Amino acid sequence: MKITVVGTGYVGLVTGTCLAETGNHVCCVDIDQRKVEKLRNGIMPIYEPGLEKLFERNLKEDRLSFTTSLQEGIDHGEIVFLALPTPPGEDGSADLKYVLGVAENIGKILTDYKVIIDKSTVPVGTAEKVQAAVAKNYDGEFDVVSNPEFLREGVAVEDFMKPDRIVIGTTSERAQKLLTELYAPYVRQGNPIIFMDERSAELTKYAANAFLATKISFMNEIAQLCERLGADVDMVRRGIGSDDRIGKRFLFPGIGYGGSCFPKDVQALVFSAKEVSYEFQILDAVTEVNKRQKVHLVNKIKRYYNNGLAGKHFAIWGLAFKPNTDDIREAPALEIINALLEAGATVAAFDPEAMENVKNIVGDKIVFAETQYDCLQNADALIIATEWNEFRTPDFDKILEAMKDTVVFDGRNLFDIEQMEKKGFHYESIGRPLVN
Ligand code: NAD
Repeated sequence: MKITVVGTGYVGLVTGTCLAETGNHVCCVDIDQRKVEKLRNGIMPIYEPGLEKLFERNLKEDRLSFTTSLQEGIDHGEIVFLALPTPPGEDGSADLKYVLGVAENIGKILTDYKVIIDKSTVPVGTAEKVQAAVAKNYDGEFDVVSNPEFLREGVAVEDFMKPDRIVIGTTSERAQKLLTELYAPYVRQGNPIIFMDERSAELTKYAANAFLATKISFMNEIAQLCERLGADVDMVRRGIGSDDRIGKRFLFPGIGYGGSCFPKDVQALVFSAKEVSYEFQILDAVTEVNKRQKVHLVNKIKRYYNNGLAGKHFAIWGLAFKPNTDDIREAPALEIINALLEAGATVAAFDPEAMENVKNIVGDKIVFAETQYDCLQNADALIIATEWNEFRTPDFDKILEAMKDTVVFDGRNLFDIEQMEKKGFHYESIGRPLVN
């Protein structure tokens, strides 16, 4: 099939590449000229495990092309995906200017039937707005479908190729037929394509992200209680996670959720609720708890040094908002770095993939290390901000040798309490006993 994807970010690039992988011809459109140039030259602009290999193969097979021309893109495909940003506006609502702007321009270009698919995360009622925006300039036949994306950065290719479910919001039989055909190779193992109306599909995406964010904030509160009551959150987590109704996944406390989705989507759902005079109380609390959790580790650090951070030197392992991505949007590490610098400390950081992106923001305010061990030279303390696998079983003797002092603040509970005790570290983690 001939497909167009507008927007080549984390969602658009994965969508375009994975659709090409099953034999479709995909044309990707982006306004970022430098990005398009890179992609045309076979350079992958983001880090996403497994993506580069598929990208190279499909580029070589001529199933994947890139352009800055919306006209060229729309002329190409019968199915047009919108994978555009929906950033938070000042009031927390999702800003639809990219989605509606492109929709209006598509209307100017259309000459025959297309299915226009919202893959961006958009508030309830957006499909109708897209429909109206296209119809401003085009009175022929077309369908607008809501098909929210559930992929997780870090495992996005796997999620796209074998999704738990595909949600398609449309009442058009023609669109249903086309999308059933398009997605058939991705649900061969029997996972469902769930058809529903546009509004329910739009809300499904927000409900999913809001629920996951709630799980994280809930566990962060339990961790706070553990610290105050002398319990161990790892034990509590295992104790509750073995109940099927609760489940083992997504029960890990930490330093607050970040990324480009949870913070903005929770806010946008609260805003949508307000618009219909409903106060979504749980989500207000979820956001508040997250804000508090994001400064929790810095508070621990300040307490340990009696607020005397000036002149201290910290090593940070992990900058990305989660492992296996170079995405640093709303990453807790950035807030930690800012707080430390503001308090007069110096910082060296290491991340396997995200250092370039952080460099673009903080410049030379911090030192970027070549390896995780270089990062530790003369550090008063090590801070763990992202749970990359390579940090899980480090060479502790090398750590002890490089550091000035043996202090570790672990925001991701990577290390075994007993082991840290044996090695002689002062070790503080989240919701677990303090090692002195
Ligand atoms: P992104 O910021 O990584 O990418 C957006 C891309 O759109 C950029 O390359 C940008 O240059 C391009 N763009 C902006 N305006 C354009 C225009 N007028 N024409 C063509 N291209 C344009 O965003 P993302 O992370 O891929 O997210 C896209 C949408 O998908 C958002 O609504 C997001 O909430 C949702 N989503 C994201 C994820 C995720 O994990 N990142 C998962 C599910 C859903």
